[in-house]
Formats: sequence, structure tokens, C-alpha cells
Amino acid sequence: MNKKAAMSRSRKSPAASPTGDPFLLTPGPLTTSPGVKQAMLHDRGSRDEQFTALTRRIRERLLAVVDGAGTHDCVPIQGSGTYALEAMLAGLLPRNGRLLNLVNGAYGRRVTRICEYLGRTVVVYETAEDSPPDPHAVERILAADTSITHVSLVYCETTSGILNPVQAIADLAARHGKALLLDAMSAFGALPLSVREIAVEGIAASANKCLEGVPGVSFCIARRTALERSAGNAHSLSLDLYEQWRALEGNGQWRFTPPTHCLLALDQALTELEQEGGAAGRLRRYAENCRLLVSGMRALGFRTFLKDQWQAPIIVTFHVPADPAFAFPAFYEGLRVRGYLIYPGKLTGPDTFRIGCIGRLGSSEMEGFLEAVREVVAELGIRNCAPD
Ligand SMILES: *Cc1c(COP(=O)(O)O)cnc(C)c1O
Repeated sequence: MNKKAAMSRSRKSPAASPTGDPFLLTPGPLTTSPGVKQAMLHDRGSRDEQFTALTRRIRERLLAVVDGAGTHDCVPIQGSGTYALEAMLAGLLPRNGRLLNLVNGAYGRRVTRICEYLGRTVVVYETAEDSPPDPHAVERILAADTSITHVSLVYCETTSGILNPVQAIADLAARHGKALLLDAMSAFGALPLSVREIAVEGIAASANKCLEGVPGVSFCIARRTALERSAGNAHSLSLDLYEQWRALEGNGQWRFTPPTHCLLALDQALTELEQEGGAAGRLRRYAENCRLLVSGMRALGFRTFLKDQWQAPIIVTFHVPADPAFAFPAFYEGLRVRGYLIYPGKLTGPDTFRIGCIGRLGSSEMEGFLEAVREVVAELGIRNCAPD
């Protein structure tokens, strides 16, 4: 037995994941339920009626999560969330469109990057990573630049965990006659989102965040009238939202090999979402995870990057302790051998790390995690967990 294995055997608080896999306190991929993993133990023929029925059902169920039946349609795309985001921007933003992109983190910056690849014109309004966009400033930009056609926003900016003011921005965009494109990747399935309340032209999200499915499939929920107008906008064959939509609406088949196992998992994940009481039920569990995490970490002396009023219960950014005994790689490793994987920081500013509240985790996993943090802090000899 090597030294590391011997050490991990003597831990007081080994993680008790049923599969022996670590708990993923990350923003996706994340810990999935036994039922979701089990659902993948089948092979499906992509042209078979059983599978086209599965695709149809998933599209309807995803649409129902945002009350979109009748006005919107769901277009699934093979690949991670960025694929759906790129397909949405390429499809719904006409080549002569002009996007106002509201940025306060890396995912907002990614939208700008995608538009640069696509050759679309972008106007960027950027705020600090701990600050939501100011609706008055957005109003002034829209009033001054009437050639803007679309506005884009990240619902929960996973870079920091900040909750952006979706309703206020959607109302503002609607009042100025601009179409809203929403990156709801780390919000969909937990944070409130109804297209009857929030005027939105397109939403991009993926299976492996709050929906608690596995990575490999993403989707765009778009207003039908916008999809109808989107023919010819795409720059890419595989990411052509319009053609993907036409194929699924036509013979119900995917144009290219579908991620069959991911879709089986997503269907089961959607059943489990319903069993939990939909997005509202899931949000209650995540909010409790977040509350336990933040209060437990604060009790140890750690400090959150965001003010509580902006914190979404999705992922929490903590400052690294100033104590020279702290080193992120050793902290990470101590938690890893105890069965918990965390995420490094992604901010442009201060030194931080992130802990996710999402995935198939509840209060006992959060308590177990906090116990592991206590042990690692002691083991590394960190006397003070406060930042500078
Ligand atoms: C996860 C995420 C994405 C997509 O990232 P992928 O790695 O492509 O899945 C986009 N935006 C936000 C806000 C996210 O959290």
C-alpha cells in the first residue's frame, strides 16, 4: 500500500458516496443520482421510434420547465453548454444584428468571444465581477445606441456565483424593443425562469448543471417566431440551430449521431426534478446547501467574495486565507483524499476558490464536507482562514 492510500484509510471522515466516487462540489459535471447513472445502461438506435419518442418527450419537458409551450421551442444540441450558446448566438443574432453584451465574469466574456468568431457586432457593458449590471446604465446605452438589436445576459455568472437581475434587464430590453438572449446554464432547473414572466427570445442551458443530468447534451429554448426567421444565419453546419430545429420538427430525428446515453440520463433527471417539486423544490435544497456551506465556512474564518445579497445558491467563491500555511494544491488534495472535489477560482482579481452547492448533494454531504475542511485546515496548520 502506498503512503497516500494508507493515509486515506486512517481518515476520520471518509466520504460515503454510494459508488465510491468523490462528491463533486463543482459547477458541472456534478454528482448525479444512482437513478440517472442507471438510466444509461441501455443502447438505443438513433433512428428507432423508441428513441425519437424519447427526444420528443425531453424537448417537451425542458420547454415545460420554463412554461414555454405554445410560444417557444426546445432545440437540443450535441455537446457541452458552450455549443448551445454558440448555436443560439449564431442562429438568433442575424448577421447584421448588434448585440449589447452585459459582462461580469468569464462566461459573459465568452459570449463576446463567440461573437468575434461569428463576426457579429458586440457592444460590451462590463461591471466588476462582484457587481451586477446597473439597469440605469443599460437604459442609457439602449437609449443612446438605437441600432442595438439584442441584449445578452448570464443569469448566474458561474465565475463568481453572482445572481444577475434577469427580470429587470428583460423588462428593460422589452421596453426598448430589444430581444434578450440568456445564458441560463447554471440556473436552468433551479432558479425561477418562466418565459411568461421574463420576456426572452433565447435561453441556452445544458443537461449537466441544475438539471443533474450528465454532460454531452445542451439545448436552446427559443421563441418560435425567432427560429422561423433564423434560416441562413448560422456560420456552421453542426451548430445550425435552424436546421437542427427543422429536422427535429420534421421526422423527429437528429441530423448527426445523438448522445443517446446522455438523453436517457436527462429523461430520468427530469423525472427526478419533477419528484423534487420542480425548480422550486430543487432551489430549496440548493439554498439549504448554500446556507450550510456559507455559515460553516464563515465559522472557520473563511470569507465569501460576494455580498450575501448577490449570492446565488449555485456556487460560492471564497477568498483564500492569508495565512502562509495555506496553499490551494495542498488544500485541494486534502479534500480530494477525503472524497470531495472543489474548484479553483476563475476571477481576474483576488485569489479565490469555489465550492458548488448543486448536484445530488444534501445537508449530510455539506456537513461531511465542512468536517473535511476542518480536518484539512488542522492538518495544514492553518491558524487563520481570513484573507488579508
Ligand atoms: C457551465 C457554463 C457554461 C458552459 O460551459 P461548458 O463547459 O461548455 O458546459 C456557460 N455559461 C455558464 C454561465 C456556465 O456556468
